[in-house]
Amino acid sequence: MFASKDDFKEQYLAEFTKTMAKPFEECTKRERYEVLAKMICSRAAKLHTETRLRHISQQRKQVYYFSMEFLIGRLLNNYLINLGIEETVRRGLKELGEDLDQLLPMEPDPGLGNGGLGRLAACFLDSMAYLDLAGMGMGARYRFGLFKQTIEDGRQTEEPDPWLVNGYPWEIRNSDSAVSVHFGGKVERTYEDGKINFEHTAYQTVLAVPYDVPIVGYDGKTVNMLRLWQAEPAEEKIDLAAFNNGKYSEAVRERNEIEAITAILYPDDSTPAGKELRLKQEYFLTAAGIASIIDNYKHQYGADNWRAFSDRTAIHTNDTHPALCVPELMRILLDQENLEWDDAWDIVTKTISFTNHTIMPEALEKWPIDLIQRLLPRVYMIIEEIDRRYRENIDRSQADWQDRTRSSAILWDGQVRMANLSIIGSHSVNGVASIHTNILKHDVFQTFYQESPDKFNNKTNGVSHRRFLLEANPALGRLITTSIGPEWISNAYHLENLLPYANDDLFLNQLEKIKYVQKCRLAEYIKEHNGITVDPASIFDVQVKRIHAYKRQLLNMIKIIYLYNRLKKEPDLDLHPHTFLFSGKAAQSYEFAKEVIRLIHAMADVVNHDAQIGGKLKVVFLENLSVSIGQLIYPAADISEQISTAGKEASGTGNMKFMFNGALTLGTMDGANVEIHQLVGDDNMFLFGLTSSQVTDLRGNYRSLDICEHSSALMEIIDQLVNGFFGSDKDAFWSIHDALIRYNDEYFVLADFEDYMRAFFEADQAYTDRRRWNKMALTNIAMAGHFSSDRTISQYAKEIWKIK
Ligand SMILES: *Cc1c(COP(=O)(O)O)cnc(C)c1O
Repeated sequence: MFASKDDFKEQYLAEFTKTMAKPFEECTKRERYEVLAKMICSRAAKLHTETRLRHISQQRKQVYYFSMEFLIGRLLNNYLINLGIEETVRRGLKELGEDLDQLLPMEPDPGLGNGGLGRLAACFLDSMAYLDLAGMGMGARYRFGLFKQTIEDGRQTEEPDPWLVNGYPWEIRNSDSAVSVHFGGKVERTYEDGKINFEHTAYQTVLAVPYDVPIVGYDGKTVNMLRLWQAEPAEEKIDLAAFNNGKYSEAVRERNEIEAITAILYPDDSTPAGKELRLKQEYFLTAAGIASIIDNYKHQYGADNWRAFSDRTAIHTNDTHPALCVPELMRILLDQENLEWDDAWDIVTKTISFTNHTIMPEALEKWPIDLIQRLLPRVYMIIEEIDRRYRENIDRSQADWQDRTRSSAILWDGQVRMANLSIIGSHSVNGVASIHTNILKHDVFQTFYQESPDKFNNKTNGVSHRRFLLEANPALGRLITTSIGPEWISNAYHLENLLPYANDDLFLNQLEKIKYVQKCRLAEYIKEHNGITVDPASIFDVQVKRIHAYKRQLLNMIKIIYLYNRLKKEPDLDLHPHTFLFSGKAAQSYEFAKEVIRLIHAMADVVNHDAQIGGKLKVVFLENLSVSIGQLIYPAADISEQISTAGKEASGTGNMKFMFNGALTLGTMDGANVEIHQLVGDDNMFLFGLTSSQVTDLRGNYRSLDICEHSSALMEIIDQLVNGFFGSDKDAFWSIHDALIRYNDEYFVLADFEDYMRAFFEADQAYTDRRRWNKMALTNIAMAGHFSSDRTISQYAKEIWKIK
């Protein structure tokens, strides 16, 4: 790409006069970043063309990964590393008097996702490109990403995130590949040669314009694309009469209505927003994506070659948000390409596959039938027919056929059940960790599993170890490479070669030192952003993730209150100093989660200002969690808090990022924690709490008040929530108090408390034996290779997408 650093400098400086119309010296850091990013982007675009031509000539099967969210993080550093030019660029910039590390934070971090699900999609893009798969991401170009979180008076406030204001150097607008998406209207039946035709008329047309973001794989061999669709009016229409009458907003009303479709990401991934606009977004992504797939396919293989479609195309749906892919692809094949139902259905089900992400019943998407019927009349007719045929095939000789219909039909109770649509329309349904897949098979989707057991499979999540280890923690990356060579970067299983270093004091000391440096870096950030001084020699005990009742940040808080109370009574308690770090957003309308954020801040206020305690405990909340803040936090953690109620966290991926960075898991037998445990064993993590089957058994004969009545310490804490401990009456935490006592502690916080404290103190003790701790950290890093998304994507490719 650049023959030398001088070559880089020359090309870079030349860009300024071309694109900024002023020289490098007169440009701000942001402008210098922008020029560099644009330069790398155009080179990546060229590499993409090469990749594409190669994939076409090799007749590669094309994978389309549909996701309403892609939390891609910043790209510049990632791409410099993947292209192997980071050092060249760094040294070149240095000679120009510029520091690469000061340009990197100039990049906006697009918040096009809520959390784990969106980040997973981004890690998958990285691994698909690394593994040289022909894989394209299909997403939406939201003008406003997830809200920007700020804390005022201890409460979360939300502000819009206008991430595009300065432009986004990584996107390429591709107007000529725009497609039309139709909403509303009516469907007319016409008869022709004994065949019924359905004609959709009187619809509103929305133009879908793709913005392509290059996805550079490690080694730079493969560059794929993430295609982000934007909604625009089909033709520039403006009501001139209204405009001339001074009614400006009316004049542009339709334009605004259409642009609203991709204006904002719904700030909640765990409850269906129940909003018409959200359904419009889902159909918009689906229909635009499918139309472009069909265009590409015809272009490459001709207009009449549908039988081979599913051998050459895989469509993967990330959760049910793109579930309308099923009826939409049917619609195209039936109405546009004139296939018979059975042939079309065969193609659709062989092409589409589906990942389920949650078993929280309130998060299973459902839409009112009348809404879908009004917004998408033809699509609805097809859903109805899919449902009719499915019901017809239910075996009525079995006694429980009615129960089976009740749980598995698509249309029920005036609603369209999207998960059932996805399962029926896919050839593969996967869960995201082994415990989660088992719950799908034997509980949530039992009926489907009995019907077609072969459809169900597990694909344990993974993360990009190149982003979350190599890029986020370069010092650790260097130590690993110096010790075992660089193969781990392309094959994370090579990390196992670190195991022999478990008795190497020199190595263990270096590991400890790197952790300490990372903690110092985070401590500086905390000082700057929170004004709190934390001791890098304290244990960094970290919980970063969305704030949610099932993730139990509350359990962590109760622990902290307990430790505070105990230290007040026993100032000489043998406890290593701890810094408790939290970060994460609460959904805008999720009052309980917002109260938990307020509790964290109220407790931070008490603890951090108590001179008697301050040296032992600190509580810090970092605002506005994003991928880039995550990259700062994961490498600095000693303890990874993964404390969800067993059976509730499908997999978790934060747990894996911590593990790659040598943090030890303090967690329940939930999600991928179970698999971490299989890999490192009891000796290298701190497990506690009820198992998911114990949770199931306990529900029904659990009384949270009984637990309190047997624990004066818990009773005291429950009291403190409302007795003025946190200030005046109006500051009391009644809703949290009530959730625990009046509503009987749905997430078994109190039930798990005692065992959680036991595991916590074990970890505290273990930390004092620094050698033992470092060994445990090393074991975790060495065994983390299994959680690279390279492994996950290889399995998807082989077992779901059937790519050799
Ligand atoms: C990895 C990640 C998550 C997911 O964290 P979990 O602990 O698995 O819930 C959420 N947000 C961001 C920004 C992440 O990078």
